[in-house]
This record gives sequence, C-alpha cells and structure tokens, in this order.
Amino acid sequence: CLVKPHQYPHAEATARASGADDLLARAQVFADLDAALTGCRLVVGTSARERAVAWPLLAPRECAALLIREAAVGGVALVFGRESSGLTNAELDRCTYLVHIPSNPLYRSLNLAAAVQVLTYELRCAQIIDEGPVYEAEAPPATARQMESFYEHLENVLTDIGFLQPENPRQLMRRMRRLFIRARPDKNEVNILRGILTAIDKTRGSDDQ
Ligand code: SAH
Repeated sequence: CLVKPHQYPHAEATARASGADDLLARAQVFADLDAALTGCRLVVGTSARERAVAWPLLAPRECAALLIREAAVGGVALVFGRESSGLTNAELDRCTYLVHIPSNPLYRSLNLAAAVQVLTYELRCAQIIDEGPVYEAEAPPATARQMESFYEHLENVLTDIGFLQPENPRQLMRRMRRLFIRARPDKNEVNILRGILTAIDKTRGSDDQ
C-alpha cells in the first residue's frame, strides 16, 4: 500500500522493480495513512530511533513472529516512513507497537529499501518456522503408534546386543525418545530405522521381531 506517493506509477520505479514490476503495478494507493490502515487490527511502525517517549518497542524477530501470528486472524500492517524524514509523530501515534532494527548507534538510520529488506526477511523466516517441517504427501509424519513400535523394537535390540542393561537402564530410552521427537521422522524414515533393527536381529540369528 502506498500512501500519497510523490509519483506513481513512475518509469524509474518500474525499471528498478525488474522482475517484481507486477507487484508494483498491483500496489494500492491511499490518500492518507488512516485509509490505508482500514481493517488492520495490529499496526507496527518502523523507527530509526528509539523514541524518547517510551512506546512498546519490538525487536525485528519478535515483531515478525507477532505479525505472522496475528495475520492468521486479522489485518496487520508494517508502516515504513519517508526516505528523508521517516514517520511523523502523528503517524507513529497510529501504531500499536514500534519496531527498531538495532543499527549502529552512531548512525541509526538505514535507507528505506534496506530497512524493508531486513524486516521482510524476518517475516519470511518467521513464516517458514510457522509452516514447520515440510513432509512429502507420500511420507507423512510417523504416527504415535508407529513410533511406539519402533521404540519397543529399539529397546529389544539394544538389550539384545548388551547396550541396554534392563537392571540398569538409566535414562537411555527416554533420551532416545527425546532425540527422535526432535527429528520428527516421517513414515519412510521410521521404516528404514525398523529395517536396520531387523537387519541387526538377523545377524544375531533371532527373528522374533
Ligand atoms: N531521518 C529519518 C530516517 C528515515 S529512514 C528519521 O530519523 O526518522 C527511512 C525509513 O526507513 C524509516 O521511516 C523507517 O521506515 C526505515 N528505517 C530506517 N532505519 C531503520 C531502523 N534502524 N529500524 C527500523 N526502521 C528503519
């Protein structure tokens, strides 16, 4: 959304947007900030300075996480200021939070495009984390039941090869669970692990698994 742009559309902007000129062409133009913010529940203003008046201030990473979370339930806005003079105090007053990129205190003000890039990068990272690990359609995450039979099989093999002593198991199986919970294996991966355990069983001449 562009608020009262000096010149739009503009041949130089279109040329610089090379490859993303469709995005620029789709920009919506508003007469003032309030009009652009219609329907937004969360408004975060960007500031090159940490303001004298204490205003809830977010770090870029927490700002991105908050925006992604809130965007799932309503409109959100990240407001950037003018290249020369930033946002006015009246405009900052429209914001629920401020976000400040911790730049060099000797010269805090980044170019607008650089500030946009840093914050959109954080948004992208937050979104990828939000999407969680990606599984292929043919290999969904293993079910709790598959994991339980795997742990049982693992415990039997570890006991069989003398690595796990039933009379002194310590925390081994719990630690193994923690490791595999972190890895969140898919169905195929658990089948491979089961295959390995079965192969170990075979070398030991026991086929009761
Ligand atoms: N002279 C202005 C700076 C404008 S910089 C001032 O002192 O306010 C242009 C825009 O880039 C700012 O309005 C803001 O949107 C963004 N920006 C620049 N540096 C930033 C920083 N360190 N953190 C967050 N946004 C920043």
